[in-house]
Amino acid sequence: MSFEFKLTDEVMYVKGVGPRRAALLEKLNIFTKYDLLTHYPRTYENHSSLTDICDVLEGETVLIVGEIYNITSREARGLTIINAILEDDTGYIKLTWFNQKYLLNKLREGMRLLIIGKAKYDSWSHGLCVNQIQNFTILDDDEEPELGITPIYPSTAAISQNVLRTAIKNLLNSMPTLKEILPQEILQAQQLISLDKAMRAVHFPKDFIELDQARRRLAFDELFLIQCGLMLIKKQTQDERLGISHKKNGALVKAALKKLPFELTGDQKKVFRAVSKDMESKLPMRRLIQGDVGSGKTAVALLALVKTVQSGFQGAFMAPTEILAVQHYEKFSALLNDLGIRVGLLSAKVTRSKKLKDELYRQISEHELDIIIGTHALIQEGVNFARLGLVVTDEQHRFGVNQRSELEKKSDTVPDMLVMTATPIPRTMTLTVYGDLDVSLIKELPPGRKPIKTEAKSIRNRKKVYELVRSEILAGRQAYVVCPLIEHSESEMLAHIESAEEIFDTLSNGIFRDIPCALLHGKMRPHDKDEIMENFRDGKTKLLVSTTVIEVGVDVPNASVMVVEHAERFGLAQLHQLRGRVGRGAAKSYCILISDSKADVAKARLEVLETTQDGFKLAEEDLKLRGPGQFFGEAQHGLPDLKIADVFRDLDILIQARDAAEKFITDDDNLKYFASLRENLALAYGDKFNQITAN
Ligand code: ADP
Ligand code: MG
Repeated sequence: MSFEFKLTDEVMYVKGVGPRRAALLEKLNIFTKYDLLTHYPRTYENHSSLTDICDVLEGETVLIVGEIYNITSREARGLTIINAILEDDTGYIKLTWFNQKYLLNKLREGMRLLIIGKAKYDSWSHGLCVNQIQNFTILDDDEEPELGITPIYPSTAAISQNVLRTAIKNLLNSMPTLKEILPQEILQAQQLISLDKAMRAVHFPKDFIELDQARRRLAFDELFLIQCGLMLIKKQTQDERLGISHKKNGALVKAALKKLPFELTGDQKKVFRAVSKDMESKLPMRRLIQGDVGSGKTAVALLALVKTVQSGFQGAFMAPTEILAVQHYEKFSALLNDLGIRVGLLSAKVTRSKKLKDELYRQISEHELDIIIGTHALIQEGVNFARLGLVVTDEQHRFGVNQRSELEKKSDTVPDMLVMTATPIPRTMTLTVYGDLDVSLIKELPPGRKPIKTEAKSIRNRKKVYELVRSEILAGRQAYVVCPLIEHSESEMLAHIESAEEIFDTLSNGIFRDIPCALLHGKMRPHDKDEIMENFRDGKTKLLVSTTVIEVGVDVPNASVMVVEHAERFGLAQLHQLRGRVGRGAAKSYCILISDSKADVAKARLEVLETTQDGFKLAEEDLKLRGPGQFFGEAQHGLPDLKIADVFRDLDILIQARDAAEKFITDDDNLKYFASLRENLALAYGDKFNQITAN
């Protein structure tokens, strides 16, 4: 009887796995045969050549074939130690196995063995000894040893490398030739080997050349699939229904431009031109604006929102935090009310009162408001826009792909979409995470900005640091103190870290006794937060002790000093973001990063911030240090993790994959491939791409 082989079958049915091991494999996120097949090796060991015993060097991992003699065993502190002598034509060496008593029944004098292990100096015999035997095979008299490259898999203590290797070998042996998923043209153009060959070779490569080809093929597939997924999302919104053609910039936009208290920078003008062109086009705009903190993205957003109002539509502006939503609301109202543009704020504060909420929802659905600013409350059910023309999302990395589309569903036509981020995302990540968006950069900072003087200080200098803060405040300016934790931690690991509450108590009762201080953190009620921020903005409060709630966007130009406590606990990109809160006014600004002097590595890391103000450079560093998951915060970026492609090493593959995907998706001749493409997306990424794999 023959069974059909399916990659979606449970891993339990692979020979050598069974229910007990299947349960262990779940810990490695392996549930199906496909998961096992794509459980790629973490690294490889080169076991492709034998070492003569006379050439064995201390510390090396060696492969030796020889015969064993003098098998002895003894007990020491409850351990069974087996010793033997291995001999080849060039010499002999001692072997040691710890705690594997059962081997006594297997090993026989005169047996031929292939040994893999690490050579160590042995003080008993005053010679070399192989005492970390990873693996050995018993060979028949004239059997050739099986040499090659050994895969080393990511694993847990409960599952040995051998079990994984055997399971994967059995899976590969039972697997029929894998169906090719890429069209022949792409394979040829990119000089890729077949999927079947690559999948087999990535686990058990013949040599390093083959391994390299396999890895390249699979990394290409992974990136190609993601790119196709993103482009299908883009194509779908562009195909299904037509977008909105906004009118050319007219009197209202010009009036708003005039109202701005400054001239736009060259980059702001350039980006607004690109945005205008997108908005005027019939295709829905999908654009990402990347600009370092303080580069003036908000002004561009404001103009785009005015442009949609000018065309008779409503605009939505989604901010990542309540504080920011309020801040934008205040700025926008002050500028736009005079022009007859009605700006509304939809915040948690409003939505808590049913009466206020219903009234606001009514105003939105009856087009009594033109621009609505809010947090994620904006995408909640019940909010129906009369005529949504543009959605602006600030600090996009805090929203996932799916939340983005939620807001789009709120409209009958496809509104234009503008995404803004101050997180300087390296190009590779932009392409993988925002591959469905067109990207504009604002590189130029508004004129007159002075670089922020940044210094990494050890905790011993704390007193001096706060003296500087005090003198700045006495000179009329304001300061932030940022702390990683809100309250004292029960956890032992964090016990040495002072909380925002503790630091606030110390400072406001100590050196800043005579100065108005306030504490701000995320767990406070929105109303209290607003009040505290308002007082700080108005200059009533001089020193604000806070957690990272001020990280994004808060704009108080009079604040000229920031002290970050326990700075070693933050990522570089995050610190850069925080630092962007100062240096917004005319005064010289300071950012002081206090860290535990014991953590030398941490301090060295912080010193990078002293020398560069370039957010992109810092983000690259950070990404290298912490990996993409940490960089964005797990689940924040809303896209699948990469299993084999590497965002640094594989930039060239990524660019090729993107180009290939673009051609592939726009060429309608390829429609016949879409079914298999969707199938593969579903296989690889489950419901991450559910919007496009559904049908
Ligand atoms: P971002 O959102 O990119 O971090 P903002 O839009 O908050 O930056 O702008 C930062 C500060 O710079 C604000 O105080 C803003 O008023 C000011 N600003 C923006 N554009 C200009 C400009 N072209 N000239 C002078 N100041 C500007
Ligand atoms: Mg901003």
